[in-house]
Amino acid sequence: MRKLVLGFDFDGVYTNCPRLKSDGIKKLFGKDVLPEHCSRRLVVGRGILTDSQYSELQSQIYGTPYFMAHTEEVTGAIRYTKKLIERGHDLRIITARKQEWADLARKWLKRRGLNLRITATEQGNKSDACRGLDFFVDDDVDKLFWLRNYPKCNLYLFSWPSNAHEHIPEEIRRIGSWQEIYHEVNKLQRKEKLQEKLEKSGIAENCVRVASKLGQDRGSRQGDCYTNRNYLYDETTLTIDCDIGCNMQGDGRLIVKQLGKVVFEISNSYPHYNRRDLPKLLGD
Ligand SMILES: [Mg+2]
Repeated sequence: MRKLVLGFDFDGVYTNCPRLKSDGIKKLFGKDVLPEHCSRRLVVGRGILTDSQYSELQSQIYGTPYFMAHTEEVTGAIRYTKKLIERGHDLRIITARKQEWADLARKWLKRRGLNLRITATEQGNKSDACRGLDFFVDDDVDKLFWLRNYPKCNLYLFSWPSNAHEHIPEEIRRIGSWQEIYHEVNKLQRKEKLQEKLEKSGIAENCVRVASKLGQDRGSRQGDCYTNRNYLYDETTLTIDCDIGCNMQGDGRLIVKQLGKVVFEISNSYPHYNRRDLPKLLGD
């Protein structure tokens, strides 16, 4: 089975960043702020700190050995990282930290028995560093927004009460723990295995043909059909997402009910399509 390339942010995914920020605000500015209120948006937005004070907080908590020594691990982060490595996956840390702050993160991980490759982007846009990833987790939705052009990369927002108010688009999913991360990676690997099977059997190609026919029926030019090969399989039902039409609109959804017979159902997105024609299209 193909091993996956997995990317993780550091602060707020490996470390309990809200707690660290709350402690930092208390120590540096003498103010009590609950960890769940410790995002820049909330702290600066509510006038608790100025923007430059928040930047000062960041440089202290990320850039000084004192704070790094007091940085708590997110429950299970080290244990599940080791399990993922054991399963042969390629793990990378991609952080917006400055290089010297990333070195402190590297030491923090090393003290816990992890020797991971760390890329410090030194700014918010992580898209170059995340090219080629299958899976990426960050606790900052703005960082994930930059990556929405990588359809192959599964994007996850690590949930904290401090980002609970954030609205997230459908390409990004919330994930709440390292145990969940571990299960999601395993699920993705199983999905890839199924994809391989479908590609070999020709079923996937049939789905593209059907989607293409649907697109033409709806006035699209030939070839204006895309499938992102996003398969969902739950024992009896296979769903494949397709984008049909030159504007990439719609979510043509083909459901194969019986893998052996290749019977399709069309979702309500395409109510005008005569589903009885489908077996003919498939050459059944
Ligand atoms: Mg972070």
